Amino acid sequence: MTAVMDRTGVKGAASGWVVPFARPDLGEEEIAAVARCLRSGWLTNGPMVARFEADFARFLGPGVHAVATSANTTGLEIALQALGLGPGDEVITSVNTFIATALAIAHVGAMPVLADIDPATLMIDPAAVEAAITSATRAILPVHIAGLACDLGALDAIARRHGLKVVEDAAHAFPARWRTRMIGNGTSDATVFSFYASKTITTGEGGMVTTRDPELARRLRLLRLHGIDKDAFARDRETARPWAYDVVEAGRKANMPDIAAAIGIEQLKKAAAFHERRSAIARRYDEAFAGLPLVLPAQPAPGGRHAWHLYIVRLTRQAGIDRDTFIARLAEQGIQCSVHFIPLHRHTYWRRRPDADRGRFPHAEAAFECSATLPLFSAMSDAEVDLVIAAVRRLLA
Ligand SMILES: *Cc1c(COP(=O)(O)O)cnc(C)c1O
Repeated sequence: MTAVMDRTGVKGAASGWVVPFARPDLGEEEIAAVARCLRSGWLTNGPMVARFEADFARFLGPGVHAVATSANTTGLEIALQALGLGPGDEVITSVNTFIATALAIAHVGAMPVLADIDPATLMIDPAAVEAAITSATRAILPVHIAGLACDLGALDAIARRHGLKVVEDAAHAFPARWRTRMIGNGTSDATVFSFYASKTITTGEGGMVTTRDPELARRLRLLRLHGIDKDAFARDRETARPWAYDVVEAGRKANMPDIAAAIGIEQLKKAAAFHERRSAIARRYDEAFAGLPLVLPAQPAPGGRHAWHLYIVRLTRQAGIDRDTFIARLAEQGIQCSVHFIPLHRHTYWRRRPDADRGRFPHAEAAFECSATLPLFSAMSDAEVDLVIAAVRRLLA
């Protein structure tokens, strides 16, 4: 197989795929930013992180506080911890997500409770959330699958009725909107983004927690770095004890390095263009696959915006081909697909959990059986898009 080089030659060339599933969209700007950071001698917890946070908050609109983390996973952990969630608490999340969502709940000592999805959107079903609520439920952790916003109106109403916190897993949802509100600037307590290499913007590894609550933002800053109180540190500095700091609670090591933030600053400048490109590719797929035996991705609610992180199709019975064969046939032509997601309860870890028998997930099971995720990334060339379209049409038309 011949690899398609991207214009930067940064990644993808060595993968062996004609069309890889994803490839980061990096240019000379990111490379220069990292070089500047390295030459500055300041590698972590410095001016790049502060600037990336300020730029990201501004992107989401007025009133947002942004706290950069080492990953979405660690961001979820400090968000849950900052909201006081721990042993004895139940947190309801989607069965259709990446394992990190549920592990973050487990890692703060709380119990992840899975809810089935709405088959129309692949997103957590508000009715299933309501049905999973017990006297121990303290929070809901919805996931915006593929970059489409979940029904935050319905989830927020449930949360208010039952006095629950809401933390959004927005790993796929930058820059998405639920109706006219940017994801990350809504009514939830906290929203957590991912800048993993395959996400819509990347810092290699990284995450961002956003909130409109300044007190929560202060606690997030504390918890991402060992619980060290910087204000106490500053006070001590004034009294000429530069070595002094105060640890006020058991925080984590969840901060973002300046090297990563330097990449993020450049990626954010390109985020609107990246989103344009992803949307254009999704529109081409929508047009090319209309009429094929596929369930195409759901569209956003009025006023909303899809981030188009992923393009998930579901094969219908008329396709006459199962999901595994579909993916294998595309792989034979050098096209790399993925599956989002293996429902959490199917993993060995989950089956061994003491609470494993709680709940049935027929909609997530059914979606999983027939789902395939096609390549969709901003650095994708028109020729690569054409190859995917032609290959899918040959298989199904
Ligand atoms: C990628 C992803 C995560 C984890 O993000 P990291 O930044 O790698 O920790 C969490 N949830 C979902 C839905 C994801 O796709």
